[in-house]
Amino acid sequence: MKKTTCCDCGLGADAISVKLGGRTVEVCCEECARALGEAEAATASAPAAKD
Ligand SMILES: [Zn+2]
Repeated sequence: MKKTTCCDCGLGADAISVKLGGRTVEVCCEECARALGEAEAATASAPAAKD
């Protein structure tokens, strides 16, 4: 089972790759990419975040 699915809509032929904090994550659409980017930014700015 793939762990790269961003949401229930799944990854199709239109899957795109976005870089988040040095990682590359595949998402199905730009909407998901933006949502993941915002989540990553929130995590990165968290004072207790490690690595
Ligand atoms: Zn999605």
